[in-house]
Amino acid sequence: MRILVVGAGPAGTRCAARVAERVRGASVTLAGAEPTLPYDRVALSKLLAGEARAEDLITHRLAALRDLGIAYRPGIAIAALDRAAGEAVTARGDRLAYDRLVLALGSAAIRLPLPGAGLPGVVLYRDMADVRAMLRAAQDRGRAVVIGGGLLGLEAAVGLAARGMRVTVVHAVDWPMERQLDAMAGGLLATRLGTRGIRFAMPASSMAVEGTERATGVRLSDGSVLPADLVVMAVGIRPQAALAREAGLPVNRGILVDDAMRTADPAIYAVGECAEHRGRCVGLVAPALEQAEVAARAIAGEAAAWAPRADAAALKVSGTAVWSAGDIADSAAESIVLRDEAEERYRRLLLRDGRLVGAVLYGDTADAGFYLDLITTRRPVAGLRPLLAFGPAFAREAA
Ligand SMILES: Cc1cc2nc3c(=O)[nH]c(=O)nc-3n(C[C@H](O)[C@H](O)[C@H](O)COP(=O)(O)OP(=O)(O)OC[C@H]3O[C@@H](n4cnc5c(N)ncnc54)[C@H](O)[C@@H]3O)c2cc1C
Repeated sequence: MRILVVGAGPAGTRCAARVAERVRGASVTLAGAEPTLPYDRVALSKLLAGEARAEDLITHRLAALRDLGIAYRPGIAIAALDRAAGEAVTARGDRLAYDRLVLALGSAAIRLPLPGAGLPGVVLYRDMADVRAMLRAAQDRGRAVVIGGGLLGLEAAVGLAARGMRVTVVHAVDWPMERQLDAMAGGLLATRLGTRGIRFAMPASSMAVEGTERATGVRLSDGSVLPADLVVMAVGIRPQAALAREAGLPVNRGILVDDAMRTADPAIYAVGECAEHRGRCVGLVAPALEQAEVAARAIAGEAAAWAPRADAAALKVSGTAVWSAGDIADSAAESIVLRDEAEERYRRLLLRDGRLVGAVLYGDTADAGFYLDLITTRRPVAGLRPLLAFGPAFAREAA
């Protein structure tokens, strides 16, 4: 069986490895548009901040891929699918034949359609090439404006500040990471990042990137201009579904798949951020890897089904522990709040119908696994309630 996996991000690489293990005699090809060896995208912020080297991020060397039985084709962008012929067509017109095709195309970072958004000096934050562009810009230190105060925007801001740039984050909402944090935790985080020299324009919206030959600043809706040598847009992602759409596969936001990660074409699977399962696309690496495992099992003829679990996200900024999981915007939920001002610790637990549905931890995230388990298993916590906010050791005492 010829198995072609397109996209050598975490999901594609994992799927290729598992399929090579499970399908005896298979010929597995992993083709990816990026020119690098497969790497850990999640760790890009460490590279940007100078806490890791590019080679530390590589997850699979050529020899390892060969040992796994994978033919690796870097720098190959698939431009079209010829489903009738069972072939993927590269941007250069070469044809790669498959019996089973796995699309693991990930997402593209969104470029805001602002005047000046295409000027040199405006970068997105998605891949190794983006980090290299930021590192080049940071050589002269200077000023950076990061548009978007979500998880990625903040990691970019911290990395650039660590490289000596003066950084302002422009964020449309009153506090950063509003999808993961409540106002209190977001406020604490903004204050803490302020001590590292990161400034916030918040709430504020960007209207244009100023400059003629290259970006020189960002104009806000109040007419003020933030000078910038580098502008980073970190405003969200869009699943890469165009290839599938153009090949006639059903696509909504992402490529529609069933529980086995199979598209409407039984020979074609989609995994990771490009796939849409029951109305949702994932945006984190853990579920993308789970989907890759499920697709590999399905291709091997085993029964396999993917079911979503609660999302958990942590900010990867050394010295600032921030974690959140589940539904933190549930207006019908009751809150248990613990705050230690002197120690800069805060936690908020959200309960509904006697179960934990969401949690925000700031300053001390050691109990994250305990709360994630309660959210995922939906275990009743009424008996633990008096001591629940103090973590597992105390909560078990209460039970
Ligand atoms: C800076 C940063 C920090 C992050 N931090 C976290 C974190 O802390 N925790 C977390 O859970 N997640 C984090 N994420 C998100 C995480 O990286 C993604 O969820 C994960 O990479 C998704 O894996 P994927 O394989 O689906 O897609 P991707 O990693 O996007 O891989 C898709 C690959 O397919 C390639 N491709 C696309 N189209 C084609 C084509 N036509 N032909 C060939 N190749 C193609 C792309 O070039 C890419 O290499 C972070 C992301 C970034 C950018």
